[in-house]
Amino acid sequence: MATTPAPITLPALPWPDNALDPVISANTISFHYGKHHKTYVDNLNKLIPGTEYADMPLEKIVTATAGKADKAGIFNNAAQIWNHTFFWACLTPGGGKPKGELMRAIDRDLGGLDKFKEKFAHDGVAQFGSGWVWLVAYDDDRIGIEKTPDAVTPMAEGKRCLLTIDVWEHAYYLDYQNRRPDFLTAVTGKLLNWDFAMQNFLRSG
Ligand code: FE
Repeated sequence: MATTPAPITLPALPWPDNALDPVISANTISFHYGKHHKTYVDNLNKLIPGTEYADMPLEKIVTATAGKADKAGIFNNAAQIWNHTFFWACLTPGGGKPKGELMRAIDRDLGGLDKFKEKFAHDGVAQFGSGWVWLVAYDDDRIGIEKTPDAVTPMAEGKRCLLTIDVWEHAYYLDYQNRRPDFLTAVTGKLLNWDFAMQNFLRSG
């Protein structure tokens, strides 16, 4: 069966690769985006031609393969592409602060911004091995913090992802070596893009 190149592309970063320095260095971005993220794209483009996933949008590939043991290769690469693209959008130089309805939800469900920062960093550290820590919103608009292993993403479970931090070693080792807590505290305090989180929160189900 003739196959055409799969249409999965590596999205551009939302900022120059030195924009997050010194919290995340240009060197880390060059490996994390230019090697790791790109490799997931290259891998998926080898895995899906000729399959039922060849013409699906990325998000659909993730939801269609989640939890299927025989599709783990496709899921892992597709979900990691989605997770990384989402992660880059969660970061911005200078960060900002949550406002309005989202700030009220943080007060109501997480005990305030300081408690959020503490628990978000804590849960990122507590994720054993590789994975992600997430701020998510549920159908009833309550919000919560979740951690996931490897490529697993709350998006595939129909939850609205508001923010995430990658806690795979490749996310921090060049800048922080084994100090995952320092990486999480710095990113949570200085780089989280609260305007992006608000857009995600206000997006209906
Ligand atoms: Fe990563």
